[in-house]
Amino acid sequence: MILELARTSFNSLLKVTTRTTSAAIASSQQIYRNMSSQSIDEKFELPKRYQGQAPSVWNEYIQLFMKYQPMNLGQGFTDYPVPQYITDALTATANSPNCLLNQYTRGFGHPRLVHALSSLYSHLVDRKIDPFSEVLVTSGAYEALYATIQGHIEDGDECIIIEPFFDCYEPMVKTAGGIPRFIPLRLKETGSDVISSGDYVLDDAELESLFNKKTKMIILNTPNNPLGKIYNRKELIKIAELCKKHNVLCVSDEVYEWMVFDDNQHVRICTLPGMWERTITIGSAGKTFSVTGWKIGWAYGPANLMVNLRIVHQNCVYTCPTPTQEAIAIAFESELKRLDSPQCYFNSLPVELEAKRDFMAKFLSDVGMKPIIPQGGYFMIADWSALESKADLSTESDAQKDYRMTKWMIKNVGLQGIPPSVFYNETNKSIMETFVRYCFFKKDENLEKAADILKNWVSK
Ligand code: PMP
Ligand code: GLN
Repeated sequence: MILELARTSFNSLLKVTTRTTSAAIASSQQIYRNMSSQSIDEKFELPKRYQGQAPSVWNEYIQLFMKYQPMNLGQGFTDYPVPQYITDALTATANSPNCLLNQYTRGFGHPRLVHALSSLYSHLVDRKIDPFSEVLVTSGAYEALYATIQGHIEDGDECIIIEPFFDCYEPMVKTAGGIPRFIPLRLKETGSDVISSGDYVLDDAELESLFNKKTKMIILNTPNNPLGKIYNRKELIKIAELCKKHNVLCVSDEVYEWMVFDDNQHVRICTLPGMWERTITIGSAGKTFSVTGWKIGWAYGPANLMVNLRIVHQNCVYTCPTPTQEAIAIAFESELKRLDSPQCYFNSLPVELEAKRDFMAKFLSDVGMKPIIPQGGYFMIADWSALESKADLSTESDAQKDYRMTKWMIKNVGLQGIPPSVFYNETNKSIMETFVRYCFFKKDENLEKAADILKNWVSK
């Protein structure tokens, strides 16, 4: 009897199991059919939030450089050694008896570096900056921008971007769900033949008209890449007033803060009344110590806003390389001891660059280009329209003329520059379509070679 019962239940269990198994097989076959009706390309399409983005100008133009080997005045970096004490600091760190310097460090910034940053910026902005809650060390200024934008922008928030702008701002805002609102700097009438980056200004009424209830953020870049404009105090006060009136966050990208020429002054917008509490300021060791390959940057601002950046950072890169952070901290400590001396790198670098700027402005003018004299940074924008007849732009297929000209020059003249339309949104790209951006932070010998290359071309 017990045996009979056991057999019956076993049989019914078997039936159920078989039914369940065949149902499972059928359903998995159905799923498989459904799945296989989608091709690999369809299923693994780029997520919508990234669609529409093409390879950036940096990726595209590095390829061109590798292929044609022109004189490279394109991407922004120097081609000669930086002061040796900076690179010695990295060697010493890697070989330090403290082997932990080759292991993970504190996620939000290596203690020695956040202390150095806090000492420097507390002095510069005249308020005590807490190294642990008001500073974040990031993977270059890129990540500082990314963490600030991702950490504050909600779907539908508007972000004001001033043109020309460093090209990653627009895609970063869009992928965070934000809506960029653009305003171009426009050349004012000066009556002078020599144009300065300071002659490019914002229209106050136009700027005011962009602020509304949805405005969450404005991104400011001073000194500006690519124009070299340094916003003066009056211009910054106007932006600050609007930020305060509309309760807007100001993201101030100041990676070129030490490259300031003539009698211009770099004013940090976070030092204006009522602005500390609504400003995140961004810096870069790549620019400060001319080591772009080290990819260390930082953001500083009030603790309640910095928390938002930390949330993004902790599950993105978590922490930045310890040896480079230690080496940059050592470099800062050396400079902090001589901030007012002409030997301080922050004071000697602009002097070195100013001479290179003047040399470039002269050789560009000599060949018939019209340079805009930068007040800061290490880029120069120049109008080449007077030389257009010397090129054959029909050989390139790009929509923008400056792309066609820079590509033609890479291939036929042997000189690489960057097309400035990349620093404008789609509707304003024509503003600088007959211009090129050159980097003048190059050894004198290479600037001379660039001058010769241009002279030979135009004299043909
Ligand atoms: N902002 C601006 C204006 C830049 O020109 C750059 C390029 N160096 C960056 C941010 C990014 O800097 P980093 O190399 O430190 O990521
Ligand atoms: N900031 C540098 C420039 O404008 C480099 C940018 C980059 O390589 N992504 O040239």
